[in-house]
Amino acid sequence: MPKPRALVIGGSVGGLFAAHLLRLAGWDIAVFERARGDLGDRGTGIGTRAELFAVMRRIGIAVDLASIGVNVQGRTGLGADGTVVHELSMPAVNSAWSRVWRPLRAALPGGSFHGGMTLTRIEHDADGVTAHFADGTSVEGELLVAADGLHSIVCMQLWPGAGPQYAGYVAWRGVVEQGAVAPELQELLFDRMVFGCPAGELFLSLPMPGPDDGPLRGNRRCHFVWFRPVAEEALPSLCTDASGRAHGISIPPPLIRPELIAALRRDADALLAPQLAASVKATGQTILQPIFDVESPAIACGRVALLGDAAFVARPHVATGVMKAGMDAACLADSLAATKNLPSGLAAYDAERRPYGRWLVERGRHIGATAMARDLPFQQRIETLMREYGAAGVVRDQPIAARLSG
Ligand SMILES: Cc1cc2nc3c(=O)[nH]c(=O)nc-3n(C[C@H](O)[C@H](O)[C@H](O)COP(=O)(O)OP(=O)(O)OC[C@H]3O[C@@H](n4cnc5c(N)ncnc54)[C@H](O)[C@@H]3O)c2cc1C
Repeated sequence: MPKPRALVIGGSVGGLFAAHLLRLAGWDIAVFERARGDLGDRGTGIGTRAELFAVMRRIGIAVDLASIGVNVQGRTGLGADGTVVHELSMPAVNSAWSRVWRPLRAALPGGSFHGGMTLTRIEHDADGVTAHFADGTSVEGELLVAADGLHSIVCMQLWPGAGPQYAGYVAWRGVVEQGAVAPELQELLFDRMVFGCPAGELFLSLPMPGPDDGPLRGNRRCHFVWFRPVAEEALPSLCTDASGRAHGISIPPPLIRPELIAALRRDADALLAPQLAASVKATGQTILQPIFDVESPAIACGRVALLGDAAFVARPHVATGVMKAGMDAACLADSLAATKNLPSGLAAYDAERRPYGRWLVERGRHIGATAMARDLPFQQRIETLMREYGAAGVVRDQPIAARLSG
């Protein structure tokens, strides 16, 4: 009997997790990704937890520290003058988005990944699902997995009006090479997570692995994230390039106007600890990321399942996007494997993952409120953020985490 066919829309981490895990569960899979070429240079650093490694091991990808990331010793909070105001011992392993995506992509069977394929719409009924693409082609299957990210076309088709909600602030990000900062700053920036809290803003610096080294210090990178309030009506101007071309509510990093980068550097000198301002000035490429919340009304409908950022996007303060995509995919594969009835399997997936997604979005809002607060005392704010940032999600994800490790 031929295997049932799953069409996976989106070839980022969520789509690849789903493709592998459904394939292991007996599905024939095909991945359709809008971008052409290699996605492996995307992204910055990511926090990790054991559950992410458990999903990768289930797929058959060997995970060890040398291949995945760098040890982070703890967290340090700095005042604006650069003095240490708080320290926490919170050992962690930080990775890079590309270190998760690349092995997933390499392990996919040849011929199952189709780049340059932009989904335009879907049709689904009791007999099957059809995906239509911008090049005029269409494909049919028994299941469609929407892993098409924050601005999911599938989510918008199924639930018009359920799109991303702007959070009122942006993240300026940048990656810093170890050799680009003064030797006396290296232990702080490349071994520890460092926090700075100007009034109504939050700055973080996080170690991450370099492009081709192991976890050894010397070739590391760190990346910074600086959350700053921006009114929604000011976003289009931020996302307009030097030629006057407007790019909507996001902009390719090389097109960010030089005067905006210059202003960011001036503000770094005025508002941040000198150690953190040094990072802003040492980055080669500044990235602008407006912050959104996404909450799908449901994550299963007919023959369609949504996962990863297409289903829920919590603010970066929960540092869980990649891990959630993997856990969503594991739960989808398990739910479908537990029954021969597709609607029942999808309903079980929705029942298990939707409450978690909603909780995570709420958790991101809660930490975001502290991050952007102007009326909380500085010491209370920085200690709360150092304790809570990226520490969410563990308890609520226990059922699926237990299944993965068992
Ligand atoms: C700058 C940055 C830093 C981040 N840092 C962290 C972090 O530290 N920790 C963490 O856990 N998470 C982090 N995240 C979030 C994390 O990257 C996402 O949560 C994760 O990539 C979600 O994966 P996904 O596959 O669901 O969606 P995405 O990665 O958004 O992928 C969606 C894919 O679908 C494709 N696509 C979109 N529309 C279509 C279409 N119509 N047809 C075909 N393909 C389509 C896109 O090209 C894309 O490849 C960060 C995100 C950003 C932007």
